[in-house]
Amino acid sequence: MRVVVLGAGFGGLELTTRLSEGLSDAADVVLVDRSDGFVFGFSKLEVMFGRAAPSDVVHPYRDLVKPGVRFVQADVRAIDPAARRVETDAGTFEADVLVVALGADLDPAATPGLVEGGHEFYTEAGAFALRDVLAAFDGGRVIVGVTSTPFKCPPAPSETALLMHDHLTRRGSRDRSEIALVMPLPVPIPPSPPASAALLEAFAERDIGWHPQTLIRALDPDRSVVVLAEGAEMPYDLFLGVPVHKAPAVVVDAGMTVDGWIPVDPLSLETAFPGVYAVGDVTSVGTPKAGVFAEGQAAVVAERILARARGGAEDAEYGGRGLCYLEFGEGRVAGVDVTFLSGRPPTGGFDAPSIEMAADKAEFGTGRIRRWFGREWAMA
Ligand SMILES: Cc1cc2nc3c(=O)[nH]c(=O)nc-3n(C[C@H](O)[C@H](O)[C@H](O)COP(=O)(O)OP(=O)(O)OC[C@H]3O[C@@H](n4cnc5c(N)ncnc54)[C@H](O)[C@@H]3O)c2cc1C
Repeated sequence: MRVVVLGAGFGGLELTTRLSEGLSDAADVVLVDRSDGFVFGFSKLEVMFGRAAPSDVVHPYRDLVKPGVRFVQADVRAIDPAARRVETDAGTFEADVLVVALGADLDPAATPGLVEGGHEFYTEAGAFALRDVLAAFDGGRVIVGVTSTPFKCPPAPSETALLMHDHLTRRGSRDRSEIALVMPLPVPIPPSPPASAALLEAFAERDIGWHPQTLIRALDPDRSVVVLAEGAEMPYDLFLGVPVHKAPAVVVDAGMTVDGWIPVDPLSLETAFPGVYAVGDVTSVGTPKAGVFAEGQAAVVAERILARARGGAEDAEYGGRGLCYLEFGEGRVAGVDVTFLSGRPPTGGFDAPSIEMAADKAEFGTGRIRRWFGREWAMA
């Protein structure tokens, strides 16, 4: 059975690791990604706030060695989901089972003025470039703002505002600065009322301005203002934005998307095309766009593929659960454990910020690098 996995992010790495663990050399898996290496989303914050160097957080694919898995560094140019055929700039791949895990593309240029007059911290390039910008910033009006929905890792803008507070405090420029957070949501983390309450309390304690239920529509760099969705303006000296998200053009062109993302069965993760699955940010499965959910979906797809390979029942189902870590600043991290089940309100728990949770988060990263890449994460 030939399995082709498109995208070596959270979803693709977890999926291929499980297939290799389950089938070893008997696996026939091709994993395609255009990048040189994998970067955790949370590592982008580490780099921009000067807590890590870019080279510390990029995990190169070149030494990815797993029995039964071949990594191909290539651009996916076209997908024929009905024929399960993929064109890449390293050749054509035919699959018995095709898994699309291409994530969400980011489009900073879609927000007028963002590229010219602001910064975004969601792409690797944007977050890494901010390291020097933040190191040189001497205080002023800072806005952390979201430009569209949906967006990955909904806690990340809140974390960024709190870490910005720490950064400016450490540099002695907090008292001549303002920090404002502009979010489309009514509370910071809607599925977890206790997490939202803790965040709102932290913002109030740190004098971080909270601007819910609105979006950044544009920046006007000449006048140093951001324009909100309703037309109101806010002055800024430094803008840190979450850019517009969209499905990669290659899946749109393949006719796989409906309303912008790939619809899947929420339990099996199968698309409308037989033998074609999709996991993670590229889907509209109903969980937030976050690595832990992509990973959980990949585990279910792996189980189904392993069952098929062994002639068993392909009956594994996705349970919608994910544990997200939340940086509160001052070295403390909270945990939000949420379960999303189709048709029901999300449920979950909250672990208050602590040093112990920060250690858990570090282990979350090192454990995955060990499993996915078969080596230690030197920096952690
Ligand atoms: C600042 C920030 C902080 C975050 N913090 C967290 C966190 O603490 N916890 C958490 O769970 N999530 C977090 N996330 C979200 C997380 O990074 C994503 O949700 C997760 O990576 C999604 O996994 P995925 O497998 O769907 O896609 P991705 O991990 O994005 O992988 C998609 C892959 O597809 C490749 N690709 C795309 N198009 C092509 C093409 N045409 N050809 C070849 N390759 C292609 C890309 O190179 C990429 O490697 C954070 C995100 C950000 C930006």
